[in-house]
Amino acid sequence: MFSELAVSTHQRREFIDITEPLGEVLRATGITSGIMTVYSPHTTAAITVNENWDPDVIHDFLLHLSSLVPAHNLQFRHGEGNSDSHILASLIGASTTLIIRNGSLYLGPWQGVYLCEFDGPRTRTVAVHIISDQAL
Ligand code: ZN
Repeated sequence: MFSELAVSTHQRREFIDITEPLGEVLRATGITSGIMTVYSPHTTAAITVNENWDPDVIHDFLLHLSSLVPAHNLQFRHGEGNSDSHILASLIGASTTLIIRNGSLYLGPWQGVYLCEFDGPRTRTVAVHIISDQAL
């Protein structure tokens, strides 16, 4: 089963929690066991799983990424001026795979799934593909 989510972002660098919309996609399928791949078809946005309980974790994550890959580097050549966004997207990665168990996404109690925006604001697409274990 394939589906797409449209996700609006509001800042140049931002993590958007997409755990709930992914759960809604899953519930609509009725699939109770299998795997879900969540994929970003973008060169400047990524997908990750991390803590969604304390918002300071995401604050600190973004702060550290800023020092790791500053937005501006006079040695960058890419004419669009967003090389930092491309680098961060690949450092975090384009996708994650989630386990579906007992009709829910198998996540730890403090975990959430994030779309990581590195060149916003804009509207992003998140691709979702589910493979069921169940016999049809
Ligand atoms: Zn670019």
